[in-house]
Amino acid sequence: MNESIKSIREIPEVDYYTSGKRTCAGCGPSLAYRLLSKAAGPNTVFLGPTGCMYVANGHQALTSPYAVPWYHTQLGGGGGAGIGTAAAFRALMEKGKREKEDINVIVYGGDGALADIGLSGLSMAMGYDYARLLFVMNDNESYANTGIQASSTTPWGATTTFTPAGKVKPIGNERMKKDVALLMAAHPGIRYVATTTLHPQLDFMNKVRKALNCGAPAFIHILTPCPKGWFFDPRYTIEMSQLALQTRVWVSWEYENGRFKLTYKPTKPKPVEEYIKAQGRFSHLKKEDIDEMQRMADEDWKYWEEMDKEGRIILPWVEPPRKR
Ligand code: SF4
Ligand code: MG
Repeated sequence: MNESIKSIREIPEVDYYTSGKRTCAGCGPSLAYRLLSKAAGPNTVFLGPTGCMYVANGHQALTSPYAVPWYHTQLGGGGGAGIGTAAAFRALMEKGKREKEDINVIVYGGDGALADIGLSGLSMAMGYDYARLLFVMNDNESYANTGIQASSTTPWGATTTFTPAGKVKPIGNERMKKDVALLMAAHPGIRYVATTTLHPQLDFMNKVRKALNCGAPAFIHILTPCPKGWFFDPRYTIEMSQLALQTRVWVSWEYENGRFKLTYKPTKPKPVEEYIKAQGRFSHLKKEDIDEMQRMADEDWKYWEEMDKEGRIILPWVEPPRKR
């Protein structure tokens, strides 16, 4: 287990996240769960803070999609529960009450659970020395299971039920998206932090394997399109991930033992407008707003290119959008 996967043919056939769920059609976080569990393999315990991947995964009706151990944690408790689970395995093995083996403890939480309410616990976990303790944040850019409320990773300009676009607030969400992966990279001695999305197919799975093998707690931030909250046809989930990368609205990178590198560089970047126009949550935006988003993406990208060239992290600073 845990070598890198070089082609689609090498993807393990066995699923550990299978039928028994009730997520929406085309659900990005659900697809990412499947890929994550395939990459991690059978010696895995999943922890699920409250979110779509808890509520919609069917535990209330005595069904479950998990073919490996899974347990629910309180919405903000993913960090503490992850540390506790890793500590328990270590103690049992050290006391000889369990055979020594590699066990993956993976906390799979949403942006609500890891970027907002559980951020302090996540940060705490990054300071421990547990190998194979991995936090994966499936970012659908809202509190989706409670009805699409804005989170700190909701992008500027998106309409949500907390930030409805209308006469008073024509933009919708007026806050800029928080970069949680950069926050995690700032932890001393961190060995592995990465961002990714559902495209290219093997990128996420190989980052999961690197993270599990890095010898310390690790963090992966995956952008997971949500047809319900983003208002697009469920058949286009993967295309949405592709577009996010091609328009440079989303940047895929990794930070491994202090070295930074971009892991996706669009050869011919597409205009941000293509990503915006494909989603109903941005349908209220005017041309000048989309121009503003293009400007921000362009300014941001210069930092990422510089980081890639230098192999180190430079904190990006982008002029905030004007008020309207
Ligand atoms: Fe998935 Fe979004 Fe539906 Fe939640 S609301 S189950 S994240 S598609
Ligand atoms: Mg969410």
